[in-house]
Parts: sequence; C-alpha cells; structure tokens
Amino acid sequence: MNAPLPDHDNHHNALLCPYCNPERLVLARPGEVEVLQAKLQTSDASVQIAVKLLSGIHALLYPAPRTLPDGRTMVFRPENPHEFMQELSDRIRALPDEMTKAGLLK
Ligand SMILES: [Zn+2]
Repeated sequence: MNAPLPDHDNHHNALLCPYCNPERLVLARPGEVEVLQAKLQTSDASVQIAVKLLSGIHALLYPAPRTLPDGRTMVFRPENPHEFMQELSDRIRALPDEMTKAGLLK
C-alpha cells in the first residue's frame, strides 16, 4: 500500500508542494514560451543543416570492404583516387565557411 498523501486541500500551492511538483517545475514568464519555441526551431534547423553537410561528406567515402562467402575480400579502388581525395578534401575544408554561412558558427 502506498504512503498516504499529505493532507492537501484544494487551495494549497501545488507549485511549492513536493508531492504535486516533485520536479520543482516553475511557471514560464509571459512571452518566455514563444522565445523558447523560436530557439528550439532555430536549433532544429541548425541540426538539419549540420546533418546535411556531414551526410554529403559521408557520401563521398569509399564503400567498406566486403568479404565474399568464398573468403575473398573486395575493396573499392577508383581509377581516379586523386579526384576522390580532392573532392573529399575540398568539402571538408569548406565546412567552416558552410557552417558560418548557415549560421551554425559565429
Ligand atoms: Zn500537493
């Protein structure tokens, strides 16, 4: 059986009550919710931009080696490895500028 609840009446201050508000939540100040929602939207957009930038670079990586059932291992060997490396390097080098342009870096 649970411990009995404290002797609440319907008019006690639930915000200050450790049983009603064990996490000590507070009321938002007027306008604060809108400000926080805007910040959250900005943060979400920033994360999406960062994921897009990093996914674009990830897509340039060589595929992982694959081992066939007969034990042979296949690896990716492009005819133009310098072009791959140059593109990869250019994209990584451009990251700070891209992030600044997107407002992720100040
Ligand atoms: Zn209470």
